Amino acid sequence: MSEQIERIKCLIIGSGPAGYTAAIYAARADLKPVVYTGLEPGGQLTTTTEVDNFPGYPEGIDGPTMMVQLQQQAERFGTEVRIGMVTSVELSDEEGGIHKAVVDNTKEIEAETVIISTGATAKYLGLPSEQRLRGGGVSACAVCDGFFYKGQDVAIVGGGDTAAEEATYLSKICNKVTMLVRRDEMRASKAMQHRVNAAKNIDLRYNTEVEEVVGDMVVEGLKMKNNVTGEIEEIPITGLFIAIGHKPNTEIFKGQLDMDDTGYIITEGKTTETNKPGVFASGDVQDKDYRQAVTAAGTGCMAALDAERYLQGIEAKVTT
Ligand code: NDP
Repeated sequence: MSEQIERIKCLIIGSGPAGYTAAIYAARADLKPVVYTGLEPGGQLTTTTEVDNFPGYPEGIDGPTMMVQLQQQAERFGTEVRIGMVTSVELSDEEGGIHKAVVDNTKEIEAETVIISTGATAKYLGLPSEQRLRGGGVSACAVCDGFFYKGQDVAIVGGGDTAAEEATYLSKICNKVTMLVRRDEMRASKAMQHRVNAAKNIDLRYNTEVEEVVGDMVVEGLKMKNNVTGEIEEIPITGLFIAIGHKPNTEIFKGQLDMDDTGYIITEGKTTETNKPGVFASGDVQDKDYRQAVTAAGTGCMAALDAERYLQGIEAKVTT
């Protein structure tokens, strides 16, 4: 006898600020949401130490604590949070259709609505010294962590819009910012490059890559290599920011949802609607520009409201 497949109203994939905020709203709307946490329960914020820019925490809060509190808040209204990874989906094209998901390659689940909040993963260089010092001065988010390096010397790696924007941001807080660009030109837009060039305390180094991050427990310096001359130089720094891009976690939705050429899910206008009826996307998985906990939470709220309205619309059609 085959096991009966569980059917739910609202499946939320991902457990960052977007997923949990969607859960809070969906639970309060009686959609009885089920959250599957993914491999990194709590999302990117669990790798951050102090969160100082989320409204409502005047003294700041550490990332893991904030995520536990968001989970508890979602559970208080009846959200079921399950540890598990959604490994494949079959999204319906029909309005009112049932979407299917498989968890951990084994358990099947059916859902009337799906909220995708699987986030994006910051890319790192992959050097052992960089990995060892993550959380000890190596960060992938200047807006989140730059403040802790006020008045200090830092470095940033990357030549895209993110790196240019973050270098400019850091230049206003820090004493000196050394910017490492691996080619002889930046990928960033001209406007962003002008801002970098206009900042007096950004030391822009082209053809330069990280050789090693120096320090045992915390960052104390940086060995950098000129990839044309081979020359290695060491500078003292206390913070290293990696800004070489993010990868949206959208692999399992490829071929089913509309995405841009870098894999971010495309949502309709000001809504969180995807191209499949009843499937919504919130947080970093659909936003490469803002990528903040508070903006992710905001779109999580929108996704739950969109899901609720969608179900109400279906119900109204059935009863008329
Ligand atoms: P991008 O992919 O645009 O740029 C990545 C940068 O990192 C490139 O300079 C790349 O070098 C460099 N890089 C990649 N891998 C390595 C490595 N291993 N070592 C050293 N350098 C490396 O990513 P962004 O995050 O900057 O931007 C993503 C998207 O978001 C873009 O479309 C951007 O326009 C957009 N964006 C827009 C903003 C705005 O409009 N305000 C702000 C931020 C982002 P190379 O060029 O040699 O490949």
